[in-house]
Amino acid sequence: MRPRCRNPLQCRNPAVRRLYEDPAYDTSRWPPSHWRASLPAPAPAAPLTGFVRAEVAVIGAGYAGLNAALELARGHGADVVVLDAGQPGWGASGRNGGFCCIGGSKLSDRQIVARVGEGGARDFRDFQHRAIERVAGLLSRHGIAARQGPTGDICIAHSPRALKALAEDAEAKMALYGEETELIPAAALAERGLTGAGFHGAAFSPTGFPIHPLAYAEGLAGVARATGVQLYGQSPVVALAPEGQGWRLTTPQGSVLARRVLIATNGYSSDDLPPWIGGRTLPAQSAVLMTRPLSAAERRAQGFTTPIMSYDTRHLLHYFRHLPDGRFLFGMRGGISAATSAAARTAARVRDDFARMFPAWAAVPVEAEWSGFVCLTGSLAPFVGPVPGAQGLYAAFGWHGNGVAPASLGGVLAAGLIAGRPTPVPALMRIPPRRFPLPPLRRTWLRAAYAVYGLQDGALPRRAA
Ligand SMILES: Cc1cc2nc3c(=O)[nH]c(=O)nc-3n(C[C@H](O)[C@H](O)[C@H](O)COP(=O)(O)OP(=O)(O)OC[C@H]3O[C@@H](n4cnc5c(N)ncnc54)[C@H](O)[C@@H]3O)c2cc1C
Repeated sequence: MRPRCRNPLQCRNPAVRRLYEDPAYDTSRWPPSHWRASLPAPAPAAPLTGFVRAEVAVIGAGYAGLNAALELARGHGADVVVLDAGQPGWGASGRNGGFCCIGGSKLSDRQIVARVGEGGARDFRDFQHRAIERVAGLLSRHGIAARQGPTGDICIAHSPRALKALAEDAEAKMALYGEETELIPAAALAERGLTGAGFHGAAFSPTGFPIHPLAYAEGLAGVARATGVQLYGQSPVVALAPEGQGWRLTTPQGSVLARRVLIATNGYSSDDLPPWIGGRTLPAQSAVLMTRPLSAAERRAQGFTTPIMSYDTRHLLHYFRHLPDGRFLFGMRGGISAATSAAARTAARVRDDFARMFPAWAAVPVEAEWSGFVCLTGSLAPFVGPVPGAQGLYAAFGWHGNGVAPASLGGVLAAGLIAGRPTPVPALMRIPPRRFPLPPLRRTWLRAAYAVYGLQDGALPRRAA
């Protein structure tokens, strides 16, 4: 029987209220990613020991938590403590695909308009663009060497029908946001270096850029520290309870008393930290492989040579890009188990899809494979705001697999709210996410959704014999 949290404002043992198997939450080591292997590891952030007082405590040292902490310390002069169960960037922020692009929600533009009107949709779009600028600004202002390629992203149609939908979407984006999208017909893919199996055309948008995600996370952590933020690693918050005018956060070796607290745990959230978040998030796996560097001849042999970050139109999305050193990153959604035994099956599926889409590279050795959690919410939109009914508690989460930029600016917005400043959070992000129906069955829903999506997406091209 799993222990339950009785007082809705108190939480114990968050580790037992997580949705997946334990290996996914093993913060004693880094995931075996190319990012960790390609970057010298900084001195680890020490665990919190003893008692500390702070104006603000942030739980989670990913892009959201670190941006919030930096903004609170620099912009609002606050005294901030950040606690992470692992090290800064240990979560999705240090292991993602590095697409700094438009994102944050799983809703279509039409659904966003239905929820918050055309003005609300434009506000959210403006947030998405400003989020990309936020990351670009941080990198250049602080000399963080994370940028890895040119501006823009390419969405590749996996069927003629998907190409038609891309064309309709481009028209809708022009009408609603005044944004240009360049459509690339199937016949022009080869000359644009976009050849892959089952590619039926594409759409180019002149926004976003690729980054080394861990270089950004660790660079940001360094800037936050230099600004006075106290950053503690290997410090899982195992209890959160109201005390006096604020909150007490307990870790295995210490505790913090803070007036205000930001929950920035996203796909690694516990269902009882705080209990309000329980059942409102659905962590979902995303898995990545990285090849060894491809030679120019190998790149030409496949015909996929564009340096622009790319993804496809499938519900079960694939995303891919060349790194500056010639390595190729290929990632995809899917997988509903984090058990050690499931990791090999997930990796095999990623390799198989990679080989089907890029047959000329099917035999190229893979150097690294890893996975992590993205975070969906019950309302398919992100949330930044106060936790209802819990004075001084705030949350920022639910970036729907595209949080590099949105989590960064989401953290800044959370900082503004915590500091009590007028902060224009887009209406879409102010609505507290709904709970998923029958939360204990969330992985079952996910399995069913994947099955339906798989049917809608159709089979990938067959592997060459
Ligand atoms: C494989 C993969 C590929 C992706 N690719 C892209 C991409 O190309 N582009 C894009 O935009 N997005 C991508 N994403 C999503 C993106 O990485 C996330 O949306 C973003 O990093 C979320 O940042 P965050 O700060 O909200 O959460 P995270 O970076 O996940 O940080 C949450 C932190 O909370 C900590 N934590 C949890 N519980 C506790 C506790 N009780 N006490 C203390 N600490 C705790 C965790 O240790 C973790 O470090 C990808 C994600 C994955 C997994």
